[in-house]
Amino acid sequence: MKFGGTSVATGEKIRHVANLVADSAKQGCGVIVVVSALDGTTDELYEAAEQAKKGSEASIRKFKQKLLAKHSAAAAKAIKNARIRKEIEQTIEKTLDELEKVLMGITYVGELTPKSRDYVLSFGERLSAPIVWGALRDLKLETQCFTGKEAGIVTDSNFGEASPLMNVTTHQLKERIGPLLEKKIIPVVTGYIAATQDGVVSTLGRGGSDYTATLLGAALAVDEVWIWTDVDGLMTADPKIIPSAKLLPELSYQEAAEMAIFGAKAMHPRALEPIMKENIPARIRNVSNPENPGTLIANEQTTKRSDVVKAIALIKDVAMINVSGAGMVGAPGSYAKIFDVLGKNNINVMMISTAVSEANMSLVIRRNLLGRALSTLEIALLGGGLVSGVTSEDDVCVIAVMGANMKGTLGVASRIFTTAARKKINIRMIAQGSSELNISFVVKEKDGEAAVRAIHDEFKLDKM
Ligand code: ADP
Ligand code: ASP
Ligand code: MG
Repeated sequence: MKFGGTSVATGEKIRHVANLVADSAKQGCGVIVVVSALDGTTDELYEAAEQAKKGSEASIRKFKQKLLAKHSAAAAKAIKNARIRKEIEQTIEKTLDELEKVLMGITYVGELTPKSRDYVLSFGERLSAPIVWGALRDLKLETQCFTGKEAGIVTDSNFGEASPLMNVTTHQLKERIGPLLEKKIIPVVTGYIAATQDGVVSTLGRGGSDYTATLLGAALAVDEVWIWTDVDGLMTADPKIIPSAKLLPELSYQEAAEMAIFGAKAMHPRALEPIMKENIPARIRNVSNPENPGTLIANEQTTKRSDVVKAIALIKDVAMINVSGAGMVGAPGSYAKIFDVLGKNNINVMMISTAVSEANMSLVIRRNLLGRALSTLEIALLGGGLVSGVTSEDDVCVIAVMGANMKGTLGVASRIFTTAARKKINIRMIAQGSSELNISFVVKEKDGEAAVRAIHDEFKLDKM
């Protein structure tokens, strides 16, 4: 069971989470608990690390006090037993002392590297997991608390978005966590954080607690992975944009992965990889509505196939780059060069589209990488005769329309684009993966929500 940030946002919610775990344990289930940082904490840590570069000792102390107040208040509400509460409060204080030192270090050096940023970001889960652990002990459950590193999750050193080394990770998780399950002890593991082979703290990328849960699930061959969150499950669109969005009761791994990759934030994009291989089902469930079975994610034999379009996602915080030049026409390797340059600079390309004339190519990347991408492309490509212009638009968003039955169904694209045209929404770029599981297109950010709403209506997803 993985509990997201909103599920552990306050002491009361943590108590509720502990009760959910206790209910399953009482029914005789073995449970592993994976915990995210308290809601918003990872963002606050990110900001604090940025500030520390040019910050002051006073602002670091103030930040520390703020986190102390937030986590102590949560512990006070979550844990009734005074002895356990005291112990957890001491852990929180000790952990925050360490965070203060790290931030001070960044201030003195005036430099924030991906490695030191990951170290700072790891504190969110290192503060939240002990509180959940305390709340479980308070309910007289036998339980033990681990960081991802202690549990045995080992990654490469691509800080910020590290990839687990599966063989050693599986081996260590089996060895360290497996025996506890046999003894009916509940392991509580920090989500999102791991360590490199040298023991340096790394993170699995934002939203990575889901990934931690599936890594544990696959290594320990669990029956199901439950991702508890603040909505009933995966829905036909983000319910925060489309209040009439409907719950999708069943999805295949491929469909759910497609949704996750294209920004249905309810899950980390790589989270399904470990369990898909082992054929372990996942369930997305609502902590505030545990009677609802949520969304079951399993193989295609288990899940029913239904409508052509199943879900629509809106991906914000992206930018589009247009690379043009007559020199690219018929020049073998010209695209490779562009991707090579971006790849070497750790810039992930989310979407591409090219014209048959080959005189230009459009790319979509995360908006925060735009500056780096543009300067990299300019330095590497302009002046070489291959490319004559690199332009960009940073006020765009991607809309992804998804569903397995789009494969081979005629007219889906035309319906999507006619709908957009009817709303006078200009389409800046289009891509359809050959998997035909989705059609994605780029519009101006101001048109994004209207486009999602119009397509949601066109395919009558609120009537599903
Ligand atoms: P957690 O803190 O539990 O990890 P997240 O914020 O990562 O939660 O994911 C849950 C949120 O994802 C929901 O509150 C919802 O607004 C958003 N979301 C976006 N698209 C979808 C979708 N298609 N279905 C369900 N939730 C979605
Ligand atoms: N706390 C991390 C984040 O906010 C990981 C997670 O919540 O899954 O990205
Ligand atoms: Mg999440």
